[in-house]
Amino acid sequence: MKFQTARPVAGITVYQPGKPIEEVERELGIRGSIKLASNENPLGPSPRALEAVQRALAGIHRYPDGGGYYLKRALARHHGLTPENFVLGNGTNEVLELVAHACLDPGDPVVFSEGAFIVYLIVSQLASCELRTAPMRDFTHDLEAMAARVDGRTKVVFIANPNNPTGTAVGERALRRLLERVPERTLVVVDEAYCHFAHREDYPDAVKLLPEFTNLVALRTFSKVYGLAGLRVGYGAAHPEVISAMERVREPFNVNSLALAAAEAALEDHAHVERSIRVNAEGREFFVRELAALGFPFVPTQGNFMMVEVGDAKGVYEALLREGVIVRPVAGYGFPRHLRISIGTPEENRRVVEVMAEITGK
Ligand SMILES: *Cc1c(COP(=O)(O)O)cnc(C)c1O
Repeated sequence: MKFQTARPVAGITVYQPGKPIEEVERELGIRGSIKLASNENPLGPSPRALEAVQRALAGIHRYPDGGGYYLKRALARHHGLTPENFVLGNGTNEVLELVAHACLDPGDPVVFSEGAFIVYLIVSQLASCELRTAPMRDFTHDLEAMAARVDGRTKVVFIANPNNPTGTAVGERALRRLLERVPERTLVVVDEAYCHFAHREDYPDAVKLLPEFTNLVALRTFSKVYGLAGLRVGYGAAHPEVISAMERVREPFNVNSLALAAAEAALEDHAHVERSIRVNAEGREFFVRELAALGFPFVPTQGNFMMVEVGDAKGVYEALLREGVIVRPVAGYGFPRHLRISIGTPEENRRVVEVMAEITGK
């Protein structure tokens, strides 16, 4: 074949998703596997979202509401902002792409941390940007080091708070200091996919900081605490002028009608959100206790997953797979000795710890 790709394509880092259960079972000829590899909600979707999807099904011969009127109105009410403060995406991943399409020209410097969510790297490569990465400190974004890499030409800074895969979060003082230090025309994108699980006292809610900083973009997703990863819906909250630029580069019907209906219902399903946070906190405490008892070092987490040092991560990952336990290798993020394990139901958590103890002889 003789077709030619666009210039950035060959250099793009390939995203490695968690292995689906069906694939593992097909390849290994096993049954009854568990997946703790993609930080999904172990309790399933919000029941209210499921009902909303049922009701919306009869209308799927129609195009969705491209403007997402009702969901944006619900988000505005939820956050005490206006619908003009929101852009919707086919997952937060698409919103990250919208940031790149709306703001980044080839050669523009972008700043993010080493060991940060890999999609910042991918969208920056796609836009042919100059990558300026800062090393982490204790598995945590070093916002001082990141701010030092920002100059007058820097268009975007990406921060995951809490970060995936390390699970660490930065506090309000550090975030404010960065926001005050960078030029007003540099966008600071704070990805809060796991904000519901963050429990440090000084965890900053970036959406609440929007009135103070016109260059701030807060990202949220329906894939984690709301349990709607399969429907693909997330959003960005920012100053209306920033939103309007992203709306210009957005495809007309990027979020489907089932996702719109589900997200609107899930947003107000407080019982499901609270239950999910509680089950996660209990699972986190279980892991902390059990992993310490077994002598596995781990990174204390503010998320719904945990990065655990197992040594031969590839070997342990493959041994876990053979036992029907799917976790996530993170060598691609620069952590070849760790595995990332999502916090699951109590039974799932017990099983992964038992199997880990077994295969490592602990
Ligand atoms: C899971 C995750 C998201 C959410 O992605 P979606 O496209 O909304 O599913 C965003 N950011 C981080 C850091 C994540 O881990």
